[in-house]
Amino acid sequence: MVAQNAYESFVGRIKDIDTAHQIESLLGWDQETYMPRRAAKDRANQIALIAGIAHERLISEEVGSLLEELERNGADDDPVVATNVRETRWRYDRAVKLPTDLVKTIARTSTLAKATWAGARKESDFSRFAPHLVELLDLKRQVAEHIGYDGEPYDALMDEYEPGAQAADVQVVFDRVKAELVPLVAAIKDAPRRPDTTILTRTCPVAGQAAFDRRVAEALGFDFEAGRIDVSTHPFCSGRGPHDVRLTTRYDEHYMPMSLFGTMHEAGHGLYEQGLDPEHIGTPMGDAVSLGIHESQSRLWENQVGRGRMFWNHYYPALQAEFPSLADVPLDDFYFAINTVRPSFIRVEADEVTYGLHIMLRFDLERRMISGTLAVNDIPEAWNTGMQELFGITPPDDARGCLQDIHWSMGTFGYFPTYALGNLYAAQFFAAARRALPDLDQQIAAGRTAPLLQWLRENIHRHGQRYRAHELVKVVTGAELSHEPFIAYLNAKFRPLYGI
Ligand code: ZN
Repeated sequence: MVAQNAYESFVGRIKDIDTAHQIESLLGWDQETYMPRRAAKDRANQIALIAGIAHERLISEEVGSLLEELERNGADDDPVVATNVRETRWRYDRAVKLPTDLVKTIARTSTLAKATWAGARKESDFSRFAPHLVELLDLKRQVAEHIGYDGEPYDALMDEYEPGAQAADVQVVFDRVKAELVPLVAAIKDAPRRPDTTILTRTCPVAGQAAFDRRVAEALGFDFEAGRIDVSTHPFCSGRGPHDVRLTTRYDEHYMPMSLFGTMHEAGHGLYEQGLDPEHIGTPMGDAVSLGIHESQSRLWENQVGRGRMFWNHYYPALQAEFPSLADVPLDDFYFAINTVRPSFIRVEADEVTYGLHIMLRFDLERRMISGTLAVNDIPEAWNTGMQELFGITPPDDARGCLQDIHWSMGTFGYFPTYALGNLYAAQFFAAARRALPDLDQQIAAGRTAPLLQWLRENIHRHGQRYRAHELVKVVTGAELSHEPFIAYLNAKFRPLYGI
């Protein structure tokens, strides 16, 4: 049994640190949604200050000695205490190796880089962004050296997003996935059936999209009393804890799926945040496991549910009622169109089959950027070569190439692989949900997704960080993470669709 007052004092401190991160996250959300352009420098100072405060509080002597005391007294009796101590120890051990000045410099540099990236992307001018990227890579290499690593510097960075993951292991999984994806993409390319994708470019007024997206998010269980949705260049979900979850999306009158599936994706992240146990808010027991697990939730709602035939059985008449331009389009044609598989330039618009290849390209480039074997000036060319090899297409400009994603401007090298891992987790979790809920398809076809959400809440959300990702997948599905459920899911869905 741990000393009660030591534990209370410990929890008070880690909750304060979490509050500082909540403020930082709100400032970041505002930057991407409503902040005036000229406020970027002020915002960089605000974020750097709060990031520095959070860091100093975490590496304080008080937190260090409380951790030691709790560990000495056997913190593992109670799973809640054990989780909070174990995960805080992990954060503390990482943070204590990093000088506060470095943490603040990264926060300031990335806030400014993000602002420059947005302009550079708009004008497709990589040279404008390049100096920021040089600076960020240098800072992140310093982080890797401070943290330390067994394999390669990239491991130390990826560990922040997917604790325990190693680049070499991820590479093995990706190679297996790639070996299955490449022939499937080739078979689809020569398939006898083709979707009519012009359906999706029919005019759907933005106001109608916003209303429909909101209705869907609400029906899935997203609580708008504990969250909101706004517009940003790059869609995201930011939120810490169940009471304030911010989603963003973007609209195109001539491409309705962008906002619809973007909203379902971000709402999936939001449902995870809102499903965290409010009793443990601000502590690891009330926090998401990893970015890979987070992404499994968004992809599950976006793809397994949202791009599924069952879901549209129920929702298609409502969509047609909202958009008369779709009135003459049969459900089967719409379903085929939203599941078009084709090589494309933009990752966030990619279909389920080719998506992973976009991640593999980024993963490969990032590892080379961090190890120093790929110079910043050579990134556009390396990107285009990779696109040609993987997809047989070359982006017409860097906006549709290496400038498309926000991540590098945020200095979050090591983040991308979590997206592909998320797809694997999503398929494995969904297969387990199907076994646990035998009438899942009928429920979804009737517009009832509450049983699925309930299952996710009980099996995943409520655990907070009680289990690390590799343990959670075993607890929930009875097996280690495997690419097989994902590949089985793709084959079962896309082979009949394309008649191959
Ligand atoms: Zn996501």
